[in-house]
Amino acid sequence: MGFNCPVCGKAFGSMTGLRKHFRKNHSNLDRCPVCNKKVNNLAKHVMRMKDEDHQVLWYLYNNLRGLRNKELKTRIRMIAKEKLSRGSTEVHFKSIIFSFSNNFAHFKF
Ligand SMILES: [Zn+2]
Ligand SMILES: [Zn+2]
Repeated sequence: MGFNCPVCGKAFGSMTGLRKHFRKNHSNLDRCPVCNKKVNNLAKHVMRMKDEDHQVLWYLYNNLRGLRNKELKTRIRMIAKEKLSRGSTEVHFKSIIFSFSNNFAHFKF
C-alpha cells in the first residue's frame, strides 16, 4: 500500500515517508492548501478547522500535535490514511487533489 502527497502527487511507501516529505517541502505555505485562506501559521489554522480535509492536512503537518482527544486522533488517522492511500478511496483523494491543485497558482515554494 502506498500514499500520495496531496500537493505534488509524489508517491510514498509509508505514511511516515509522506509526512517527512510534506513537512520538508510543503510546510512554508502562506495560504492554506485546503481553503485557500491566507495564514500566518498553518499549524494553528488547521487545528481550528473541523472538516476532514483540514484534519488530514493537520495529520500530515504535525501528526495532530496539540490534540488531546485520543478517540478523535485515532479517527483522523484513519481518515487520513484512507484519503491519501492510492486506489481504494479515489473519490476522497481526488477531492483533496482538486482543492489543492485548484489553488496551486497562489503558492510560493
Ligand atoms: Zn509533495
Ligand atoms: Zn484552511
